[in-house]
Amino acid sequence: MHKAGFVNIIGNPNVGKSTLMNILVGEKLSIITSKMQTTRHRIMGIVNGNDFQIVYSDTPGIIKPHYKLQKFMLNFVNSALQDADIILYLTDIVETWDKNKPYLKKLNDINIPVILLINKIDLVDIKSINQLIHDWQLRLPKAKVLPISALNNSNIDTLLNEIISLLPESPPYFPKDQLTDKPENFFVSEFIREQILVNYKKEVPYSVEIEVEEFKEDKDIIRIRSVIHVARDTQKGIIIGYKGNAIKKVGIEARKAIESFFNKKVYLELFVKVNKEWRDNDRKLKGFGYHKI
Ligand code: GDP
Ligand code: MG
Repeated sequence: MHKAGFVNIIGNPNVGKSTLMNILVGEKLSIITSKMQTTRHRIMGIVNGNDFQIVYSDTPGIIKPHYKLQKFMLNFVNSALQDADIILYLTDIVETWDKNKPYLKKLNDINIPVILLINKIDLVDIKSINQLIHDWQLRLPKAKVLPISALNNSNIDTLLNEIISLLPESPPYFPKDQLTDKPENFFVSEFIREQILVNYKKEVPYSVEIEVEEFKEDKDIIRIRSVIHVARDTQKGIIIGYKGNAIKKVGIEARKAIESFFNKKVYLELFVKVNKEWRDNDRKLKGFGYHKI
């Protein structure tokens, strides 16, 4: 008998969804920073066993959309609620249940098994963990409640066993050697965007989108040419920085991440372009891979 299914990770921003996805998959597929809205897309990570296939989906955090890009981000979350075989609803030890109010009703009404994960338990003592388990179980009586630390890998084995036991009987959905649904270019742009999130303040990272114009793999080296799109003229100067120092740093760090992902030497060229108000333009968003599902 073969089991397979879609296991979708959903929750508020910053609770550790991408950290969890990466540890479950064993590869850095999703970028992680301490900033809100680091994840913009729905990213699939596939784990294969002899008799099972788990297709995880990491999603953007649940947010109230203020511009079109964020509407598309929320679409990814809602699609993940609909096509799941198992929902991993993630919260952490800081969040109170009322921050999840709109989704609690959905989770209680839905006819899909829900595992409620309380993440970041490395930060608190056992007494407060037990209290949190108790509170959450009251709110979600049907859900299995499990405390974890995605950072320290605690209780992840228990979680994996629980997931496998809940997986429906099914043939695999993807070839057994496939790791993700996203193409190589996607990961290149994410590693560059991760450095933008780390190195610039305030609104700048949220106004940036990355385009990979060229990805050429030779025997010993991958040559990449990429454009950093910004929404306003002033942001171009900020990205480049004094004497180009800021963009140089982004280039060096992103190149290292890309090299370790592809396990190959990388030559990375970066350009900055002003692409006025791309975040609210349907055609431009579509070009960047945001579309209704
Ligand atoms: P997402 O927005 O839900 O995808 O959250 P991320 O995975 O990007 O993580 C947000 C922040 O929480 C990062 O700074 C992570 O290092 C941190 N984090 C994630 N999991 C844990 C955990 O188990 N313990 C602690 N202490 N921090 C964590
Ligand atoms: Mg994330």
